[in-house]
Amino acid sequence: MQITEKQLEQVNDRIKALVSAGSFYGKKLRDAGITEVKTAEDFLKLPFSEKKDLRDAYPLGLMTAPEEKIVRIHSSSGTTGTPVIIPYTAKDVDDWATMFARCYEFAGITNKDRIQITPGYGLWTAGIGFQAGCEKLGAMAVPMGPGNTDKQIEMMIALETTVICATSSYALLLAEEIQKRGIRDKIKLKKGVIGSERWSKKMRDRISTELGIELYDIYGLTEIYGPGIGINCTKEEGMHYWDDFIYIEIIDPKTGEPVPDGEQGEIVITTLVKEGAPLIRYRTHDLSRIIPEPCSCGSRFPRLDMIMGRTDDMMKIKGVNVFPSQIEEVLGMFPEISSEYQIRISHLDGKDTMRIYVETTGDVNFDDLSKRIAEKVKSRIGFTPIVKAVEIGVLPRSMKKTARVIDERFNED
Ligand code: ZN
Repeated sequence: MQITEKQLEQVNDRIKALVSAGSFYGKKLRDAGITEVKTAEDFLKLPFSEKKDLRDAYPLGLMTAPEEKIVRIHSSSGTTGTPVIIPYTAKDVDDWATMFARCYEFAGITNKDRIQITPGYGLWTAGIGFQAGCEKLGAMAVPMGPGNTDKQIEMMIALETTVICATSSYALLLAEEIQKRGIRDKIKLKKGVIGSERWSKKMRDRISTELGIELYDIYGLTEIYGPGIGINCTKEEGMHYWDDFIYIEIIDPKTGEPVPDGEQGEIVITTLVKEGAPLIRYRTHDLSRIIPEPCSCGSRFPRLDMIMGRTDDMMKIKGVNVFPSQIEEVLGMFPEISSEYQIRISHLDGKDTMRIYVETTGDVNFDDLSKRIAEKVKSRIGFTPIVKAVEIGVLPRSMKKTARVIDERFNED
C-alpha cells in the first residue's frame, strides 16, 4: 500500500523532530544525510530500524521529545539481552488510548460494557493499554491483572463482566476452569479481546464455544505504542489497522524489498505522529499480508491478515523451511486432538528431527493417531516428524505465553 501525501508530510515532521533532537535514530538519519523525503520512492530508501538498534539506545537514547514532556516509559519484556525502553509524551499516551478505544468499538464494545483486564500491569504495555482504552471508551474497567483464577471467576460472576481481555493461553485456561466447575450459566461474558500471541483456529474455536463468546484479536507491540494498533472487525478475517497513526508496509524479509499488496512478508511499521520515540521503518519480524479488498463492514481502514508467525520462527527441518503455523494447520485437520501441542526440535545422529506432542482422549488409538499425523505432515509439508500422543491436560498451560516450539539444537554445548 503506497504511502499517501499526508503520510509523507507526517513522516517528514517526524524526521525533523528526530534529527533536531539528535536522539539515537536522529543521529542515524543525519549520518545518512537524510533531512526529508519528497516522494514515495524516497521513503523506500530510508534505512530500516531493528530491535537491536533500540537495544543499543538503552536506556533513554530514543527520547525525542524534551524531558519535561515525557510522562511515562514502557519496556519490552526483554527475556533475552538488554530491554528496550520507549518514552511516551502525554499526547502519545492519549493517542494510544484513542487507538485502543477504537479497537473496542470495532469489536462492538460500548460504554455499557464491563471489561475484565487480565494482562499484566507494569513496565510492559499490556494491562495499562487495555485500561486506558476502556476508560477512553467510557466502559467500566475491572483491572485484575494476571493470575488468581479463583478471584477472576468470582469477580466475573459478581460484577457480571461482559468482556474478557486476556492472552489466548489464559483465556483457554479460564474457559477450561469454567467448564470444569460447571458455572457457565453464571457467566455473562459476550466478547473476548485477545492479545499478544499467535494462536490456532482450533484454540480460538474452543475458547469461543466453551465460553459462548465472540473473539477479537488485537495487534500491537511495545515499540509501537503497545497493543491496540489494530483489531479484527465483526465481518471477515483480517485486522483493520489505524493508518492515521501508523504506516504499514510488507517487505520480503530476505531482500528488504516491498512485496505487492496481498503477498505475504514481514510487517514494517512507521509511526506517523509519535513524539516520545518516533520509529521509522521498524522491522517487526511478524509475518502477514495486506488484504487489498475493501472490507464488507464498510470501514475505510486498511486490513492486515492474521499474523502467520515470525520470521525468526522459521525452522529448517531436513532441508525444508517450516513455520509453526503450518504444523498447526495440519493438526487442525484432526478433530480428535486438543488445541494444545508442543514441538521439539533436536539434533539426532547428525540430522535435525522434529517431535510433535499432541493431546487426545482415551477412546482414541494413540499409535494409530500418531501415525496418521506423521503421514499428513509428510504429505503436506515434506518431512516426517516423530509424533507422540498424550492424555489431555498433560501438556503445559500457562497464564502468559505458552512456549509451543522448543528448539533444543542451540542448547547442546
Ligand atoms: Zn471490517
